[in-house]
Amino acid sequence: MPRLLLVEDEPGLVLTLSDRLRAEGFGVDCARSVREARRSLALGAFDLVILDLMLPDGSGLELCRRLREHDPHTPVLMLSALGAVDQRVAGLAQGADDYLAKPFDSRELVARVHALLRRVRAQSSAQGGPLRFGRIEIDRDAAECRVDGRPVELSARLFGLLCYFAANPDRLLSRDRLLNEVWGYDALPATRTVDVHVGWLRRRIEADPRHPVHLVTVHGLGYKFVSQP
Ligand code: CA
Repeated sequence: MPRLLLVEDEPGLVLTLSDRLRAEGFGVDCARSVREARRSLALGAFDLVILDLMLPDGSGLELCRRLREHDPHTPVLMLSALGAVDQRVAGLAQGADDYLAKPFDSRELVARVHALLRRVRAQSSAQGGPLRFGRIEIDRDAAECRVDGRPVELSARLFGLLCYFAANPDRLLSRDRLLNEVWGYDALPATRTVDVHVGWLRRRIEADPRHPVHLVTVHGLGYKFVSQP
């Protein structure tokens, strides 16, 4: 589950947005001031930060600049009542990745959050850098997988299956679809093959293969690769 930090001081907006984002499957921590946001950022890693520009004890711009000093990667979506172009430019100059002017529809915020997370994932894969999912690291260029930093031996088929899951995280994937995408259309229609391979993959990447947290079964429908259990 991707974790978001929502830095916003308007109680109504905090409630609406955090409800909406949780309903979308995000984990949401809220901070209502620069001080609270600093504490949250020091304590935990977030996949994305939603940052209001005007906070009771300081500026979101300053917070964004400080965040960028030691963390160039976590995407920041800036919010502001000020839709003016210079505010937007200032936010982007301090390292924000996107900017949303208030008032906005919460559906637009959700869409922007999804888009930013997709962009980050696409960038890391385009740069050929390893993909990280919790304890699992997948280096597609080197065709290597590591769990807790230790290399894991995988056949080409298992590596292909893992890469397909990793390219489609947090989505329900049916056995038929996996068979078609990983084995190809000429594969024998034996969906049991998928189950067997998923079992093998679990033994290699899960801490407890009998209680998988990444490669979870969606009963009667297929599998889902949980990116951040
Ligand atoms: Ca505010």
